[in-house]
Amino acid sequence: MSQKGTINVAVENIFPLIKKFLYSDHEIFLRELVSNATDATLKLQHLARIGEASVELGDQKIEIKIDKEAKTLHIIDQGLGMSEDEVQKYINEVAFSGAEEFLEKYKDTAKDSGIIGHFGLGFYSAFMVADQVEIITKSFRGDGAVHWTCDGSPNYTLEPATKEDFGTEIILHISDDETEFLEESRITELLNKYNKFMPVPIKFGMRTETLEKPEGAAEEDAAPTEEVDNIINNPSPAWTKQPSELEEADYKGFYRELYPTQFEEPLFNIHLNVDYPFNLTGILYFPKMTQDLNVQKDRIQLYQNQVYVTDNVEGIVPEFLTMLRGVIDSPDIPLNVSRSYLQADGAVKKISSYITRKVADKLKSLFNDDRKGFEEKWNDIKIVIEYGMLSEEKFFDKADKFALYPTVDGSYYLWDELVEKIKDAQTDKDGKTVILYTSNKETQHSYVAAATERGYEVLLLDSPIISHLMQKLEGSKENVSFVRVDADHVDNLIKKDEEQISKLSDEEKESLQKVITDTIKDAEYTVQVEAMSSDAAPFIITQPEFMRRMKE
Ligand code: ADP
Ligand code: MG
Repeated sequence: MSQKGTINVAVENIFPLIKKFLYSDHEIFLRELVSNATDATLKLQHLARIGEASVELGDQKIEIKIDKEAKTLHIIDQGLGMSEDEVQKYINEVAFSGAEEFLEKYKDTAKDSGIIGHFGLGFYSAFMVADQVEIITKSFRGDGAVHWTCDGSPNYTLEPATKEDFGTEIILHISDDETEFLEESRITELLNKYNKFMPVPIKFGMRTETLEKPEGAAEEDAAPTEEVDNIINNPSPAWTKQPSELEEADYKGFYRELYPTQFEEPLFNIHLNVDYPFNLTGILYFPKMTQDLNVQKDRIQLYQNQVYVTDNVEGIVPEFLTMLRGVIDSPDIPLNVSRSYLQADGAVKKISSYITRKVADKLKSLFNDDRKGFEEKWNDIKIVIEYGMLSEEKFFDKADKFALYPTVDGSYYLWDELVEKIKDAQTDKDGKTVILYTSNKETQHSYVAAATERGYEVLLLDSPIISHLMQKLEGSKENVSFVRVDADHVDNLIKKDEEQISKLSDEEKESLQKVITDTIKDAEYTVQVEAMSSDAAPFIITQPEFMRRMKE
């Protein structure tokens, strides 16, 4: 006979689990508690807006305080607060999310309210760093205040309390092995990391502000100062605004806010803004790229409703774009799941290809709007574009509209322009269009000079992945082949009617050929003695193209 039942989870068992495993990183308790304080504030604002709360809101803020003597950390908000019943329901029932319930109840109006919580577990992360937690809270609806205390066992106390204003104060009694969270510098660091762009002002201590000198003040008088709240966050960061509200200077300013230690200005930015079929906002910046792909600090940051989540966006942003900087904010990216799951997730895939498309569109419009400017930036951005062409088929297809092929004498061609330009003059015996290139025009000077003198276009292709890209282009474009300008193939392109006049006699050529061949004694190379009337090389030593590529 089959039976059905409900597994009974004993709370005694769940607490140590939450403490140990729910979050590997203890520091995120602060993010969770500030998120709850933010939610409480936003909920009250929402209720006031729709006429369900008639209270004087004022300038609501969240305050963080350290009491070193009492070894406590306080998170104080002026949000909607909780009645005794609500504490019973929202706090004493582990894994019941009041945030989810709120969004469900007000789903028609609160969709864009920015409310963060949804697992109903965040509050309990407090026990990762505290051995006792207190809540003093008063509902905006006006019932009396209550005081809840719990030492991390399933037993709590709940009693009436006195509190003037509505809102909530959470008091953490920091445990002895977590005393770092009583240090001002550590809390500042955490607030800067997780809460820097949260939507409600967050106060941590006071700071001194210098005021303007009063009119008529003497030169030697010090400017007056004033003690003001030290607000650590910018509640309305650039990415939450409409592109039409922002100027170039705002984007640059936000870049500095995001990366205070970056002195170099970004080359350009891409404002992301979609709400269907998924919700995503953000600003990506193209920094000047270094040749070294591995060094990457100041990475793209991922946010959810303005709460920092991570700077590891692997799997969400296509790999070639992880070299960019900036922020992405999306409530639709599932968190706390493995990267391989992320890569398979349909919504995440859509996000990733949306970002690729936006970046391609932006590059195209930058190119169209200001070709000269784009050409000047090419060297600093080509690595991303070339990497993208190699790794994302869709990007490869779009890149024809903006990927540039620079020549040794400073022209830049789009692919079609290049092929159009050279297709008549640079054809090999199989009828393929031959694209000549060099990776370093200085050391190959004489070959390059010889080729340009003959009227050929020589590309200067010198990025670390260029040989892969050439292979890809040879494989996907019709009838083209890349040939290094010093390769022996080049000679096959020379139009025989343009006879070159040598300064050497045939005997002289022969003996020169012998001397050089004997000297290098290497079958990989071929020697051609030309000694043209120009200043180009008197002889050319070449290595077949396939030998060279094998070594790359
Ligand atoms: P979640 O935020 O995912 O809903 P939490 O465990 O973080 O879950 O919090 C549980 C519930 O407790 C919240 O949904 C909210 O109803 C209530 N709560 C927590 N902190 C506060 C606060 N500062 N003010 C008002 N209610 C709060
Ligand atoms: Mg929460």
